[in-house]
Amino acid sequence: MRLALIAHDHKKNDMVALATEFASFLNSCSLIATGTTGGRLRDEVGLAHVECLLSGPLGGDLQIGARLAMGEVDGVIFLRDPMTPQPHEPDINALVRACDVHNIPCATNVAGARVMLMAWAYPG
Ligand code: PGA
Repeated sequence: MRLALIAHDHKKNDMVALATEFASFLNSCSLIATGTTGGRLRDEVGLAHVECLLSGPLGGDLQIGARLAMGEVDGVIFLRDPMTPQPHEPDINALVRACDVHNIPCATNVAGARVMLMAWAYPG
């Protein structure tokens, strides 16, 4: 399973908590993440193998979207902050659109992410 993990600043603590809960499953996955999110997952959750791309505002969402479009991503957990304007809103929309174009599951909040992770971590 190849997963992409992204969290906006106000959602990064939620991402760390979620990843801690599912750490053993995530350790079995190939992981990519935007820069700051990935750094926290590595340092605070111990997901040593997470590949950190650029930070979101610097193009990290676009990098993930490009990999997804190339068939290299099986699922996206993208904890967005709906209450704060983001300078890279077009990039965010492009990534979510890429998920829809390529029919890749994308959770944009913790509840959806838990459903996805439960299904993948405990199939059947
Ligand atoms: P970050 O990027 O993980 O580098 O903060 C996330 C984003 O803002 O899209």
